[in-house]
Amino acid sequence: MRKEFLPFSPPLIGEDDIAEVVASLRSGWITTGPRVERFQEDFKEFIGAESVLALNSCTSALHVALAALDIGPGDQVISTPMTFCSSIHVIEHQGATPVLVDVEEDTLNINPARVEAAVKANREVKAILPVHLYGHPCEIDPILDIARRHGLAVIEDAAHSLPARYRGRMIGTPSPDDDVTNLVAFSFYATKNLTTGEGGMLTGPQEIIDQARVWSLHGMSRDAYKRYTAEGSWSYEVVLPGFKYNMPDLQAALGLHQLKRLPEMQRRRRQHVEHYNEAFKSIEEVQTPTEREHVESAWHIYLLRLNLEMLNIDRARFIEELRALNIGSSVHFIPVHLQPFYRDKYGYKPEDYPIAYREYMRMVSLPLSPSLTDDDVDDVVEAVTAIVERHRK
Ligand SMILES: *Cc1c(COP(=O)(O)O)cnc(C)c1O
Repeated sequence: MRKEFLPFSPPLIGEDDIAEVVASLRSGWITTGPRVERFQEDFKEFIGAESVLALNSCTSALHVALAALDIGPGDQVISTPMTFCSSIHVIEHQGATPVLVDVEEDTLNINPARVEAAVKANREVKAILPVHLYGHPCEIDPILDIARRHGLAVIEDAAHSLPARYRGRMIGTPSPDDDVTNLVAFSFYATKNLTTGEGGMLTGPQEIIDQARVWSLHGMSRDAYKRYTAEGSWSYEVVLPGFKYNMPDLQAALGLHQLKRLPEMQRRRRQHVEHYNEAFKSIEEVQTPTEREHVESAWHIYLLRLNLEMLNIDRARFIEELRALNIGSSVHFIPVHLQPFYRDKYGYKPEDYPIAYREYMRMVSLPLSPSLTDDDVDDVVEAVTAIVERHRK
């Protein structure tokens, strides 16, 4: 057994990241400024996005996306129960109403056929908010097609999917369909594939990103950097009751070098995934994750599903036993419709989304990070194998 506890998703911070943060501190400019500008430029080029906006979180990115699209009271937004609560909170923040639809069995991503049915069954749908869960792109083409036919916007939650591809297109590049307004929100939270501690990025068409920028900083028509430096002046106009969601240079400093290291970090992530897949494929009591043929997953999370009918313990006990063997793990996610706020407000029952509910009951996210060593991954494999052997029916 391992001597030290293995955290579920340890960040990989390099000396170049640390030096850049120190340089930002010494420069005298610590809030939104030159490093954010550079990070935005580099990110835009990396993704191939039309326009980008750096923010202090993905939640902020999703929120200003809805605000910039003028989605508010009386409007409905279609999304998935199998996500982090903040994907749905932002709909509530805008006074709009979430309409949740169930997921596909293999990827646990939103099911386009159910999206189509929900668009037909509800009168006030203005947007679809799909999530690329675990880094595996959802079926975005059918969703964009539904959006085009019904005049809806598509706001993608890409918190897990940097970098990921769908039919060769990087997630975050402009929609191939000019008729659909398409925004994409990324997260740089501590556990994500690229981290700035906290942070996010919104990509999309120039015009909407410009509007989102105004919403993101007090509704002011110019940003602080331009106001207080030689380039700008003291003057500004407040045109909207905006939020305070800008990314500071201290955070952008952390992202600049990680973006350069990202391809290498992803290669390492994929090696760990293959290592897990290889080790678990012969164990009948567990199910390994799939990757559909036409996508490249960002492999943010390695989701193991337990075939509970073959074991004499439940998922909670499985996690406890992993912990006892010094292996950290997690669950992604407790479906939103089970959370008291949403359950009580909308009267959801667990079985309203039967696939999300059933799969939630048997899922465990195993440690996955480029900072893991091959020995760490071996330790996880050993622990999972030991628990299965102990509790096989
Ligand atoms: C992490 C996460 C978010 C929120 O990201 P923040 O940057 O922490 O706001 C949103 N959606 C999903 C699916 C996430 O995992």
